[in-house]
Amino acid sequence: VYAPLRANARGFDLTHTPTLVEIDKARNPFKDRQWETAPLLAGDVKPQDPVAVINPTDPDSSPGTVRNASLEDVATALANAEPWTAPLSERRKVLLKAADMLEDNFGEIFGLLAREAGKNLPDCVAELREGVDFLRYYAAQATDEPPAGIFTCISPWNFPMAIFSGQVSAALAAGNAVLAKPAEQTPLIAYVTVLILHKAGVPRSALQLLPGGGDIGAALTGDPRINGVAFTGSTATAQRIRQNMADHCAPGTPLIAETGGLNAMIVDSTALPEQAVQAIVESAFQSAGQRCSALRCLYVQEDIAGDLTKMLIGAMEALRMGNPWELSTDVGPIIDEAARKSIADHIEAARAEGRVIAELMAPATGTYIAPTILRVKGIGDLEREIFGPVLHLATFKSRQLDDVIDAINATGYGLTFGLHTRIDDRVQYVSERIEAGNIYINRNQIGAIVGSQPFGGEGLSGTGPKAGGPNYLPRFGQPDIQETDA
Ligand code: GLU
Repeated sequence: VYAPLRANARGFDLTHTPTLVEIDKARNPFKDRQWETAPLLAGDVKPQDPVAVINPTDPDSSPGTVRNASLEDVATALANAEPWTAPLSERRKVLLKAADMLEDNFGEIFGLLAREAGKNLPDCVAELREGVDFLRYYAAQATDEPPAGIFTCISPWNFPMAIFSGQVSAALAAGNAVLAKPAEQTPLIAYVTVLILHKAGVPRSALQLLPGGGDIGAALTGDPRINGVAFTGSTATAQRIRQNMADHCAPGTPLIAETGGLNAMIVDSTALPEQAVQAIVESAFQSAGQRCSALRCLYVQEDIAGDLTKMLIGAMEALRMGNPWELSTDVGPIIDEAARKSIADHIEAARAEGRVIAELMAPATGTYIAPTILRVKGIGDLEREIFGPVLHLATFKSRQLDDVIDAINATGYGLTFGLHTRIDDRVQYVSERIEAGNIYINRNQIGAIVGSQPFGGEGLSGTGPKAGGPNYLPRFGQPDIQETDA
């Protein structure tokens, strides 16, 4: 397949003072802005009453309201959805234009990411970059194969712009009609992104936005007119969607699901400690641990565990928690109170058993969880994915390496894995045995880059194909119809 040349977005250099001044100037008008959002349909909208969107940093200062879609709106959207029949060159042009427009509007996007999703500045920069990279990558990869038809895209709150844009732009690049349902916590950023896509030239009938909760999601994944679903979120929700599709959609309707992880890292006694500590802190605590790729269970070889843990606690103690709008903030809030409570319960259960190794202090307001390290015997002690800045620490003896690998594989998840070692043979040995979609050696295990690190897992972590890789787009198109003699 021919794909035009493409480059990843440059992003912003946050060590460059004039850049910081430029960012501040661009996002300041959005510091107090109130967004009023509603479904964006190719027909009359009959949405529900407005509800306030919550700012996780400060529940008293909402960034705006959303009118969620009604079931009538879903019916309208389905009735008016039309695949994007524009020629390939036009689809590419429009998606590339939208990518440029998103970059130009970075002030509004950064403002929203901070106030609606609690993202600090480095995360805002990475997120915008990933979002526009997806648009450009799928525009480049698109072919003029016929589309699947109507695609439902259901995106998560933890990458409310990047993953939203990724799913939507893949489905659009392939020429589908898209019905997009953003996560309930983050409808505003999706709304602004869709407005930009429409303005760039995507027809309304090819891209409709339906904010809402589980009832809207069920209606959008349980209809025979749906020809495919792209979903990123929890494994449990993916399983419900698959059942709903099995009950209502044509057999063989594709579900592209990117779900949870129980991700491990192994640090052996030959690892470079400074490098390992930096990678651990980034992997476990960046984005307040709210990435499906984040490190949950660290295995350190016994011989170095004492010294490495000491260094790790020192590095963790240097992290600053606070308002993500402030440049100094390393760790922002947890997305909402329900999520905070579920993480806090997990920490309290560990505390009752005397397993807290170290923890920071959370700010008094907002839904924060302070970075915490808990002792575990092994990854098997984790009953579920803890979606926050909580690192579980286990030690192992050299002769137990195979048992550790077996335990990691036995979770059934297979998303990311990290290894720190200076033994080349061990890199080979461990990465051949670990079952994970993305394996990172001697670095952090988050922040996959579109085009160079296709991202996705196996087992309970997802169906594949990997996002941002060459196999993703074909799943959004109709398979070749083979002519036969029959
Ligand atoms: N692609 C992201 C990363 O590499 C994670 C996506 C997610 O958390 O859903 O960190």
